Amino acid sequence: MRKKIIAGNWKMNMDLSEGLDFAESINNYFREKPSDRAEVILCTPFIHLAGLSGLLKDGKIVFGAQNCAAESSGAYTGEVSASMIKSTGAQYVITGHSERRTYYHENDKILNKKAALAVKCGLKVIFCCGEVLQEREEGTHFSVVRRQLEAGLFSLSEEEFKQIIIAYEPVWAIGTGLTATPDQAQEMHKYIRDLISEKYGKNFADQVSILYGGSCKPSNAAEIFSRADVDGGLIGGASLKKEDFCAIVEAV
Ligand code: PEP
Repeated sequence: MRKKIIAGNWKMNMDLSEGLDFAESINNYFREKPSDRAEVILCTPFIHLAGLSGLLKDGKIVFGAQNCAAESSGAYTGEVSASMIKSTGAQYVITGHSERRTYYHENDKILNKKAALAVKCGLKVIFCCGEVLQEREEGTHFSVVRRQLEAGLFSLSEEEFKQIIIAYEPVWAIGTGLTATPDQAQEMHKYIRDLISEKYGKNFADQVSILYGGSCKPSNAAEIFSRADVDGGLIGGASLKKEDFCAIVEAV
């Protein structure tokens, strides 16, 4: 059975005390109502990570970062390395989010370095891929996602790839209120699984969790998650509202 996952991506929101209080209240919720179907992950700004390890030590939910450096250490002012993230007790890191690709010009080569380094440091990587609206309208969305996966991840060995979770996030659906239909999500998730299968074998591909992201909310989550190749979600805006986030977890 593949692992079901709901990961919240807080983006650049919440100061230190707001973030720790919010994480504590989510943790309390799942202490009372454990989520036995899905792993719940909070991907927070760097400033929260060290504080979260004490706060979440009962292990009901786990946490991770939203980015890591493409280098392991040294003179890279302002960067945070994968091993530094790991040292906080974080288990996950998101890489390849479309906001990083667009605003910080992170290309396939950089993302490949990040994924390889993060895995080497013992982090699990939530690797985002997805097409922009124009690519979907032109019908190139499959080849775009193929390129992102091949260039970003397929240099990893099978052992390394065990640490990878894929998040399919059509860029036109992120933060826009537009959501891929369950059929569109399933079609792309199946395509991604087939690509992984071609590269690493079918049994292996069947174990890889592929999350959907893009304006997921309590009202649409259950239907999207019901599709065969959708193993949960990466949740942006709705992860900042406790009721919505917990409802999305319960929709798995
Ligand atoms: C995201 O940022 O990964 C995301 C899916 O955002 P939203 O849920 O707000 O569309």
